[in-house]
Amino acid sequence: MLQAIMGYLEEHVESSPEWAKKLEELAAENRVPIMEPLGIQFLMQLIRLQQPDNILEIGTAIGYSALMMRHAKPDVSIVTVERDDIRYDQAVTHIQAQGAQDDILILKGDAFDLEETIRAHAPYDFVFIDAAKGQYQRFFESYSEMLSERGVIVSDNVLFKGYVADDSEATPRKANIAKKIRKYNDWLFEHEAFHTTILPVGDGVAVSVKKK
Ligand code: SAH
Ligand code: MG
Repeated sequence: MLQAIMGYLEEHVESSPEWAKKLEELAAENRVPIMEPLGIQFLMQLIRLQQPDNILEIGTAIGYSALMMRHAKPDVSIVTVERDDIRYDQAVTHIQAQGAQDDILILKGDAFDLEETIRAHAPYDFVFIDAAKGQYQRFFESYSEMLSERGVIVSDNVLFKGYVADDSEATPRKANIAKKIRKYNDWLFEHEAFHTTILPVGDGVAVSVKKK
């Protein structure tokens, strides 16, 4: 049943602009794990609803999600972090190609080493965590302090191909990642300062909103 629902939704998703389709193809060819169609559309819808003035993204990859978030709100400022040299260079190229270099600041390096620089641009209205899965709790702890009062934190891949709910068919490596994510999700649901809800779109998206 869930599979039928997902199939239906995937057939009824808003189509991407041409430049974004090219990035989607490039990501597929190079196995870059950019957000899936339903996930990115949901993220963009959150941006349209919440109207953040600025966004922090952990995990730029090739610049796809940053450009899509800006597409959803063209006057937004984004700070985004990527530690891989090749992906960073690709992101710079793609962001310049859209004339977005004044709106999207790409920082090269590990999100933890760059904490000072990231803090210099705080507070953020919206934080999007889409990087190394074993580090999500640390990311959340560091960056939730840089959130504005109305801030929202979105974490991607929190259902990890379904293995978080059922890892009986996962390889040991994948089962181990699923275990880490399960631990993160449990921690997140227990968090006294945030309301969290997980949606089964894309690879699983957690939305955390500050408690009043
Ligand atoms: N948000 C992108 C996809 C990001 S893929 C999109 O949807 O278009 C995850 C990226 O996070 C990878 O490119 C990886 O190099 C980067 N990454 C993982 N851990 C990181 C860290 N600690 N600091 C900075 N980048 C990190
Ligand atoms: Mg992701």
